[in-house]
Amino acid sequence: MKRICVFCGSSMGSKEIYKIKAKELGESFLKNELILIYGGANVGLMKILADTVLQERGEVIGVMPRSLVEKEVAHLGLSKMHITESMQERKVLMAEMSDAFIAMPGGFGTLDELAEMLTYNQLRIHDKPIGLLNIDGYFDHLLKFLDHAVEEQYVRKEHRKNIIVDDNIDALLEKLNNYKPVLMDKWIHEIKEESN
Ligand code: AMP
Repeated sequence: MKRICVFCGSSMGSKEIYKIKAKELGESFLKNELILIYGGANVGLMKILADTVLQERGEVIGVMPRSLVEKEVAHLGLSKMHITESMQERKVLMAEMSDAFIAMPGGFGTLDELAEMLTYNQLRIHDKPIGLLNIDGYFDHLLKFLDHAVEEQYVRKEHRKNIIVDDNIDALLEKLNNYKPVLMDKWIHEIKEESN
């Protein structure tokens, strides 16, 4: 695992702990010599994370649609910036370039990116580990909702279990490293059966 893509807020959030953990995650990238891939912005938790890695000469790659670059939220000090024509193309490029994904607290943008990567895993477009850094229980409600979705049979148990969750950065990285994709060949067949 060399390149990890982090999805996180373009806002700072309400609590100091979110900023502290964004900085700690950046320090962890440096310690483990990981390359950071992220949305390329110079705002919110994204800025803290990128600046922490850049300060010690770590490698940071941004992926940003042209429309956002033009709105002047692009980070100008990155090791590399990929400019895409759309949000969709941005996610595809992030998915291709990364060995694993981490979602930190964030809003719609973060949830969109997270859901897209989970769907890629579900459809076996890729088999890359996806982790939630559950700072101060930020994702608890989402995880509860996903359990509900399993109960109501819209999300499969195997896919739900595939999401790695921890509130500790080292533990999360270790789990991402040890990830073994669940084989899910059966499920499309089962979905077809139940629809007959
Ligand atoms: P949000 O969670 O809604 O704050 O959005 C943050 C996530 O969506 C990041 O992972 C980015 O890739 C993307 N994103 C949303 N807004 C921006 C922005 N203003 N600049 C750059 N990326 C953004």
